[in-house]
Amino acid sequence: MTDEDAIMVLQRIESMYNTIRKNDTRFEAVEIAKEALCERIEQNKGCKYCNDGLHAMEVKPCANGITTEVDIGKLSKEDHFGILLCSEKNPDEPCGYVDFNYCPVCGKKVSDSKNGEQK
Ligand SMILES: [Zn+2]
Repeated sequence: MTDEDAIMVLQRIESMYNTIRKNDTRFEAVEIAKEALCERIEQNKGCKYCNDGLHAMEVKPCANGITTEVDIGKLSKEDHFGILLCSEKNPDEPCGYVDFNYCPVCGKKVSDSKNGEQK
């Protein structure tokens, strides 16, 4: 069952209980479930960083003045979602990376595995 299907079922339940007062706990539970599903649908749409490709992110320099170049996303569909770090001295050569299971910008789940490992 998709989230959209679940919302439709909850709306039918609501219409069957249309005689329930608005402050009834069952009515509130249905409303909370619908809101949670709507939030999850929105979150699963993702953002420009997690939907495709690799995107540069702005990095704010620390007090020591050292800056790095940071790209977020995937190089290919088979690649892990994550952040690629490049040093200031050689911005075209990645010097490290961090894999994520969830997009750090919008929260969309981007991997089903633990520690960014692919299945
Ligand atoms: Zn995102």
